[in-house]
Amino acid sequence: MTRTTSPDAQRFDTLLVANRGEIACRVMRTARRMGLRTVAVYSDADANARHVREADEAVRLGPAAARESYLNVAAVVEAARRTNAGAIHPGYGFLSENGAFVEALDAAGITFVGPPASAIAAMGDKSAAKARMHDAGVPLVPGYHGEGQDDALLRDEADRIGYPVLLKASAGGGGKGMRVVESSDGFQAALDGCRRESRSAFGDDRMLIEKYLVQPRHVEVQVFCDAHGHGVYLFERDCSVQRRHQKVLEEAPAPGMTEELRREMGEAAVRAAREIGYVGAGTVEFLLDVDGSFYFMEMNTRLQVEHPVTEMITGQDLVEWQLRVAMGERLPLAQDELTISGHSFEARLYAEDPEQDFLPATGTLSRFAMDLAGAGLEAKRVRLDSGVETGDVVSMHYDPMLAKLIVHGDDRAQALATLNRALAALDVRGVVTNRGFLQRLATHPDFRDAKLDTRFIERHEDTLFAERRVAPEDYAAAALIGLHQLARECESDSPWDRHDGFRLNAPHTIRIALCAPELSQGPAQDADDAESVTVVEGKREGQGSPWQLTLNGQDLSATYAATLEPLEGDAVAVTLDGHRRRLQARRDDNVVVMVDPRRETRLFWRRIDAIDHGHHEAESTLTAPMHGTVVALLVEAGARVEKGMPLMVMEAMKMEHTMTAPADGHVESFHFAAGDTVGQGDVLLAFAADE
Ligand code: ADP
Repeated sequence: MTRTTSPDAQRFDTLLVANRGEIACRVMRTARRMGLRTVAVYSDADANARHVREADEAVRLGPAAARESYLNVAAVVEAARRTNAGAIHPGYGFLSENGAFVEALDAAGITFVGPPASAIAAMGDKSAAKARMHDAGVPLVPGYHGEGQDDALLRDEADRIGYPVLLKASAGGGGKGMRVVESSDGFQAALDGCRRESRSAFGDDRMLIEKYLVQPRHVEVQVFCDAHGHGVYLFERDCSVQRRHQKVLEEAPAPGMTEELRREMGEAAVRAAREIGYVGAGTVEFLLDVDGSFYFMEMNTRLQVEHPVTEMITGQDLVEWQLRVAMGERLPLAQDELTISGHSFEARLYAEDPEQDFLPATGTLSRFAMDLAGAGLEAKRVRLDSGVETGDVVSMHYDPMLAKLIVHGDDRAQALATLNRALAALDVRGVVTNRGFLQRLATHPDFRDAKLDTRFIERHEDTLFAERRVAPEDYAAAALIGLHQLARECESDSPWDRHDGFRLNAPHTIRIALCAPELSQGPAQDADDAESVTVVEGKREGQGSPWQLTLNGQDLSATYAATLEPLEGDAVAVTLDGHRRRLQARRDDNVVVMVDPRRETRLFWRRIDAIDHGHHEAESTLTAPMHGTVVALLVEAGARVEKGMPLMVMEAMKMEHTMTAPADGHVESFHFAAGDTVGQGDVLLAFAADE
């Protein structure tokens, strides 16, 4: 069962990466640099994914479902055989901590880039792992991890430990089968619940009990061992900012560490790894209590999602280390040759909607890019590890993480400033992401002051999630961007061909309705009636002169003299009553997305009418104000109508628009029928006004 990674392990020239997304791309990047041939594997959902496009060769595993593709041991081994791959890198997730997979590779003579199966097994069971860690002198959270599983015994142990305690499934993972118990009275019910959950998730209901730390930080140590008996630690990462036990923002080094604590934790982590005969990259997770005590939590026997922050501060490529160790080489550096330089953060960009309980989002990325130069950022300080590119489809089959944004600074403050600017410079369109949430986290005063613990998000729910009120300046800026766009579209046409009442060099007024994008998806509503809609009226004397903006919405009315100046790329400068602000302005259909280093604001906008002070008012409603569908024709072609009579209804972004007769007259013909799609500016019907 044990695989002996011998010091003279086989070198390999072809590496198969048994994973997808950003980690597959990231591993292949290093492998290519080291002169290895790269092989990707893919499911039907990923046939054209970025990791497949970037690989030298790629082999189909099976249908989209992970069970039938990325988790299919036989298919992965077969893919390695077909391509003569000498080694397999598992990435994280999927088969990365699967002992049976490692054994299958051993049997097939393929090198597993990771630890021996025996080391994975040793850490697979929480209770057994704790017992071994105890023997190795690694500090544990006070608790109980014995064999006896009698209800009464467990309750006595909990009483002895003292409340609150945390019940954990021995076989657990991913936060399942875990419950906080506040008092002896509630113990039995919690135990029953945990056992049920654990039985159904892991087919095993053994429990362990830990003292529940009220304000711990999650601090983990990166360790590395080779097959020659050497082990080092590459310092620590703080991953305290978690939602439902899932990490969101990580950093290295952990703020507030002393050299002494760093060495103690590092050495304890290396002891933990040695105890189980570890080889390769591993992470030992600790809880760090407010008093500086630290306790072993678990060891992840693989490369972590957040490994890049360690690479940034040490200047080392951990995947290169993994591959060298797998080839039987010695560790590239000794402990005293490793140093920390500066500070690094990682933010995980997910396709999900934090405002809707982090519901995963899908769609086509109409754009995915980052303009470093435009944001004044240095390429060596910012790294975007992504598994997607513009045009890619985000499906619901896998983890919704799109990319990781990793930054480096000379110190924590500089790195944090860079993180915020880099988040603002990300240009993601077509799919909802958690970018705005990341910005709120990263600009939070407590985060800036490194007041971190694992309940950070929970504690700051109010400010991180509360339905944020859009500031009047943001409504004005969004309206201004909309007005500017209408003006540009108009300027590129001959003004005389237009029927929407927009006239150059003449005083005119345009009204725009703005609301949160979610609302525009709701039931059809009349923008003017809905409380949540803000109407902005823009007026100006002529091209080039400032706009006079009047805002009207719930609890909101304001006026501004406003100008907009396009800068390079998507950047614009918006000036409201002499206050100039620079931001990135992007359009995603009819949603305007404005991003500055502090926040992302998304507003759905549409033009709701045009009042021309010239002569063209009569024709103003006969063109489609935006891309949409015709819902109904309300009169017959040829019908005589009076001014203001409804003629036709169209729908766009789930809002209905009624086209009314611009004057007394008759409809000569309709150019579209119910159900037809119309483009913005299409003439909808031919109308003849009475003489
Ligand atoms: P899983 O394997 O299910 O991810 P872990 O044992 O790694 O579970 O714990 C996950 C998270 O739960 C930790 O990162 C920490 O935030 C919290 N946690 C775990 N043990 C304790 C404890 N004894 N006291 C307080 N929080 C804990």
